[in-house]
Amino acid sequence: MGMDSRDLLGKIVLEIKEYLPESASSSEIPQIEFEMAEDFMLHLQRGIIDSDPTHLDLFFERWLVDDTGRHAAQFFGWVNSLLVRIIEISQAELPSEESNQLAAQLFPFLAYTNHYSIQNILAHNLNRMKEGQASLERLDKSKSDFISIAAHELKTPLTLLEGYTSMMREIIEQKNIFDEHILMLLDGMDSGSGRLRQIISDMIDVSMIDNQLLSLNYQPNWLVKVLSKIDQDFQPALRSRSLSLRINRFSGDESVSYFDADRVFQALSNIVSNAIKYTPDGGKILIDGRELDGFFEIMVIDNGIGIDPPNQTIIFDKFQRIGDITVHSSGKTKFKGGGPGLGLPIAKGIIEAHGGRIWVESAGYDELVCPGSTFHVLLPILQNPPASTN
Ligand code: ADP
Repeated sequence: MGMDSRDLLGKIVLEIKEYLPESASSSEIPQIEFEMAEDFMLHLQRGIIDSDPTHLDLFFERWLVDDTGRHAAQFFGWVNSLLVRIIEISQAELPSEESNQLAAQLFPFLAYTNHYSIQNILAHNLNRMKEGQASLERLDKSKSDFISIAAHELKTPLTLLEGYTSMMREIIEQKNIFDEHILMLLDGMDSGSGRLRQIISDMIDVSMIDNQLLSLNYQPNWLVKVLSKIDQDFQPALRSRSLSLRINRFSGDESVSYFDADRVFQALSNIVSNAIKYTPDGGKILIDGRELDGFFEIMVIDNGIGIDPPNQTIIFDKFQRIGDITVHSSGKTKFKGGGPGLGLPIAKGIIEAHGGRIWVESAGYDELVCPGSTFHVLLPILQNPPASTN
């Protein structure tokens, strides 16, 4: 007895090996752990004298070499058990008043260690999240760069193909060879290269949207004009799939507003061509609209296979087709024809560049029940072209 708390701490410093936490003292104590414990006791003593737990900062900074999860967890566990050990020893060796006093002095250090370790773990995780975010951004950037480079590279050989096809047509005409078989092959080549040109132009649009380079040509326009062009353009596809398209008139469809008619047509076409693709033969598509305060709302409603709620936002991200990727194909209007997954991202980019919004509602995906999907587009009504259009 006769030992006070300061003596006890001094004794522990001197015979630190004996007082190391269980984990360390069981076998041979590595030299490093011994030094670490000595250093800890030194900072602890100073901290107790000043009643200031932040004295431990120096210790933490020196010994916490690697702040990755596992090491940090072990490290702080070790510090905690050393502190608990000191309290236990003081209870065994000191009169209760003395040991209670020392325990009271040590508690803030225990609390501080835990606080420090939580801060450390949080900071570490935050860093990892930031790194993850940065690498995702880099990936997205290189994806977008790739799309743009590939699209431009594909244009040249495509132009060659188109050129040769049209030369062949001319030669056939000049030579008066009206061979139906050859003409059919040429039509096939034209429709193939037309489809390829469409995909390339979608790729370029997507990369312009990604890089905020989409420029809009604002002119006074009427929605009814855009919608009737949609009606005309899709008639052949609708007929071939036995689908009906109804376009409702609504108050406001003849009001003049400034927007880029070609781009809005493109956005709505993408939505309508999806409605055709994802509705079984014989189904119905309805385009409805209304004038709201400052906006037109256009709805494209189909009674097709529908979209599961978790996918209802994903489908607006580029290349995010849902379902079986092996059905990547052909037609823009074949049932479940598939495609590169650029239609909706482009529609979204165009509508948002106008200051509008696009979203979908659907009860879910079911090819038998066909719950259908409703795409909503909000397009601002503008009496004048916006001040700066870029
Ligand atoms: P793509 O049609 O080229 O695959 P989109 O960006 O146009 O790409 O559409 C993305 C995905 O959203 C489609 O693959 C499809 O799974 C789903 N989708 C889009 N419109 C509809 C719709 N009207 N009904 C059901 N699913 C749809």
